[in-house]
Amino acid sequence: MSYPKMTVNLETIKNNVKSVVGLCNSQGIKVAGVTKVFCGNPRIAKAYIEGGVSYLADSRIENLIRLKELDIPKIMLRLPMKSESEKIVEYADISLNSELDTITSLSEKALEKGKIHKIILMVDLGDLREGYYDEKSLFNSIEKMIELKGVKIIGLGTNLTCYGGVIPTKEILNRLAKLEKQIEEKYNIELEILSGGNSSTVHLLPDNKIDRLNNLRLGESLILGTESAYGEQIEGTKNDAFTLQVEIIEVKEKPSLPTGKIGRDAFGNIPTFIDRGVRRRILCAVGKQDVDFEALYPLDEGIIILGGSSDHLILDGSDSEVDYKVGDIIEFRMSYVGILRGMTSEYVEKEIIK
Ligand SMILES: *Cc1c(COP(=O)(O)O)cnc(C)c1O
Repeated sequence: MSYPKMTVNLETIKNNVKSVVGLCNSQGIKVAGVTKVFCGNPRIAKAYIEGGVSYLADSRIENLIRLKELDIPKIMLRLPMKSESEKIVEYADISLNSELDTITSLSEKALEKGKIHKIILMVDLGDLREGYYDEKSLFNSIEKMIELKGVKIIGLGTNLTCYGGVIPTKEILNRLAKLEKQIEEKYNIELEILSGGNSSTVHLLPDNKIDRLNNLRLGESLILGTESAYGEQIEGTKNDAFTLQVEIIEVKEKPSLPTGKIGRDAFGNIPTFIDRGVRRRILCAVGKQDVDFEALYPLDEGIIILGGSSDHLILDGSDSEVDYKVGDIIEFRMSYVGILRGMTSEYVEKEIIK
């Protein structure tokens, strides 16, 4: 077995999914399980399916291609690049979109393959990432999209708490529902999906039914069991499905402050230090190339993360009750971004347990 290593517990993930899907389904909401945090690994995606998701969704077409053998509808989350239209219609059943040019291209490619590609139109409700911001341009586009033979508009969607940090409320999401109703009436079409965001919408669910809302695209709440508006743990879930193990390569007593004149560190920043006197410093074989140090939480609460560089993580182990030695393994829990970065690094071994 080699290190650094991430361990993925499928049983925990499946249980998380069951709890969250149960909560959503009880409110008439179907869940698209977002697989980007584990780079579309098919074995982990299967745990989503066993847990009851209705779709798989990813922001990268490469990941959807990895999932192609799994028989469940797939959603492309990031607005497609025009240049990847052909792959999108091949490997995704549905994509989120906000540009007529791209949708026209998707329509052409779909027709070439004898398919009809489904579109969820994205509306920007103030978070300022993707989506139509003003309703007039949305309506203008829809008029033209209706003419396209290779695509079908199946609903509206929005994304919040991603760039602007806007927290979803009933009022904000009801705007989307109202807009959908207007579109249905004006163009005499039926829209079957109202996709009300990501894990930051989950906090509204227990007693706050939103008009028409019947779809959520969830990653963090399935993986860590946390709703992401306030960071609360959802009932029946656990946050330790993914752990990181790293190996110690040096243990030495050293002062807390560097010796000499201080310039820039390996990343071009001027470092600052807290003087705690002479401390037991533990050097581990993992670096910023593999993980985000801000996203790591040592299971041993006596350990302090001091920092590190591309290939080294430096810990202070003086307050720990464990007498760490070279070759020992230290274990961490990770935040959502931490898991994303670790799963993406080729240098981190992945072990999937049952
Ligand atoms: C990543 C992503 C999601 C899932 O976000 P979580 O916060 O992990 O639930 C949903 N929608 C889109 C468009 C995304 O890119």
